[in-house]
Amino acid sequence: MTVESVFPMLEPLLPRVSKPVQYVGGELNATVKDWDAAAVRWALMYPDAYEVGVPNQGVMILYEILNELPDVLAERTYAVWPDLEALMREHGVPQFTVDGHRPLAAFDLMGISFATELGYTNMLTALDLGGIPLHSVDRTDEHPIVVSGGHAAFNPEPIADFIDCAVLGDGEEAVLEITDIVRAWKAEGCPGGRDEVLTRLAETGGVYVPRFYDVEYLPDGRIQRVVPNRERVPYRVFKRTTMDLDAWPYPKQPLVPLAESVHERMSVEIFRGCTRGCRFCQAGMITRPVRERSIEGIGAMVQRGLEATGFEEVGLLSLSSADHSEIAEITKGLADRYEGTNTGLSLPSTRVDAFNVDLANELSRGGRRSGLTFAPEGGSERLRRVINKMVSEEDLIRTVSTAFANGWRQVKLYFMCGLPTETDEDVLQIAEMAKNVIRAGREVSGRKDIRCTISIGGFVPKPHTPFQWASQCDPDTVDSRLAKLRAAINSDRSLGRNIGMRYHDGKPSLIEGLLSRGDRRIGKVIERVWREGGRFDGWSEHFSYYRWVNAAEAELPAFGVDLAWFTTREREELEVLPWEHLDSGLDKEWLWADWQDALDEREQDDCRWTPCFDCGVCPAMGTDIEVGPTGRTLLPLTPVGGGSPVRNPSLSTLTN
Ligand code: SF4
Repeated sequence: MTVESVFPMLEPLLPRVSKPVQYVGGELNATVKDWDAAAVRWALMYPDAYEVGVPNQGVMILYEILNELPDVLAERTYAVWPDLEALMREHGVPQFTVDGHRPLAAFDLMGISFATELGYTNMLTALDLGGIPLHSVDRTDEHPIVVSGGHAAFNPEPIADFIDCAVLGDGEEAVLEITDIVRAWKAEGCPGGRDEVLTRLAETGGVYVPRFYDVEYLPDGRIQRVVPNRERVPYRVFKRTTMDLDAWPYPKQPLVPLAESVHERMSVEIFRGCTRGCRFCQAGMITRPVRERSIEGIGAMVQRGLEATGFEEVGLLSLSSADHSEIAEITKGLADRYEGTNTGLSLPSTRVDAFNVDLANELSRGGRRSGLTFAPEGGSERLRRVINKMVSEEDLIRTVSTAFANGWRQVKLYFMCGLPTETDEDVLQIAEMAKNVIRAGREVSGRKDIRCTISIGGFVPKPHTPFQWASQCDPDTVDSRLAKLRAAINSDRSLGRNIGMRYHDGKPSLIEGLLSRGDRRIGKVIERVWREGGRFDGWSEHFSYYRWVNAAEAELPAFGVDLAWFTTREREELEVLPWEHLDSGLDKEWLWADWQDALDEREQDDCRWTPCFDCGVCPAMGTDIEVGPTGRTLLPLTPVGGGSPVRNPSLSTLTN
């Protein structure tokens, strides 16, 4: 049955809302396929505003993979701002996709990718506006199957009531497998209804269907066990791992946003996974093992992507881009190839110890030298041993000195506050480090205009990391340490004025902590917050700490637990964690041993360069770490710029 576009209903509302262009679709490389010719139809949601969601690589990759299938259609939808939400409710306009402006409820599947837990309330808005029951148990065969994915939903228990299923890990192969199952089930006439299709998905072992598992609790509120409540459903659900990145060179045709977006560049993921072992880093832990894209594969993706988009900047993405075993050859090869064109390169994620100034020079060839960003994360050497961020202050000063000597004038340093075992003294060391950076810069450059900006975020303990057992620091302690740090910076009149400080208060981090390590009982809190107006919780101007605290106080006592129980309480070794039946591949005993090493301030090496230390991932996945160098080169090496340069290659900021 043909589904009509809702655009005629939407269009008259657009002049009355902010940034209406974000709702019209039609971007370069967007796809609108024939509805009737599709056997399976996906709506893919990034639960944030268009400007944040449109550059998201995960959604872009799945959108393209699915649309390449002749009988499958995929369209995108984003969170609508509260001004349009109010008008849509007033005029009865449902949540729609920006490609075909089709109503969300008409699709077979709705895939939602969460980069932050603070996007959960936006999912509820989309479901409600779409006319889809909020609770999965209330949905019928007529409603889309709601599938969550993304790093933030690696523990999907807090949203278990609202999703039908969750995919853990890489999505490329999982979406194809889910599509095959749904296609076959529809072709058979949907036997057994929604329950049957969800059972078929669950039986793959790689799709988690929360309603097929019962959670039993102990009298003190802890979990006793999580067990399947039917046959054909496995006890543990494994994460997906796409091993050969060269076989998945997506996006081939990146979307070019119509409205302003957070990243105006094309991105190529140069490797996936990280084994540096930073103990706070959930992304690093859950994406192991390391899988590199080949130098030829990267070159081909850059060339094709630039041709398809006209972007002037290429970002080489990963969790720690300078760690690619052939990064020097890649950056030199690309800098040579695009010399004299208007194409800039950037490494948006670089570690201080992997960074070298040759690399930065390559990236900034002929361009201006703006800022460099490093992330020591912890202010003191002791705290960096606890978090396993093996960066010495000496290394940092040596690196920034070389950068200042090469013409850079400012550096940005990222830190976290509220880390396990942290004291006021650890945080005050941040001021000393920043002052030493300025001193070093002044000395090597002979200039006074050296700047250092420190940016500080609140630490949130995450599932599937060694810190999953840790007590989260309370917001008052975080705020008081940050106040002391500011005072310490300002007390030095000469150096202090060249140091900028940016930070968020500790309150949003505590709520992120509640959502990260929560269990199914948190669903009630999320729903209450949403009913009381919670929208765009990742945006400071929309986030209300007190709305969350009040909702937790209203909903959690019935279960004998509270906000502090989920956040500032340290867990014991034998406690059953809410995500224990969800297998990231990491061995729980290894994680616990690494947590003990953290408390003993003992570091752990990177297994790319040392013998395997048995974190469990490789045997669990039946895989192995995949790193070069291959010794191959970027081909062809002929510069593509040819004639006269449009402008000098731009320097791009290196950020961690
Ligand atoms: S199993 Fe060994 S080689 Fe594989 S990621 Fe873990 S520590 Fe590294």
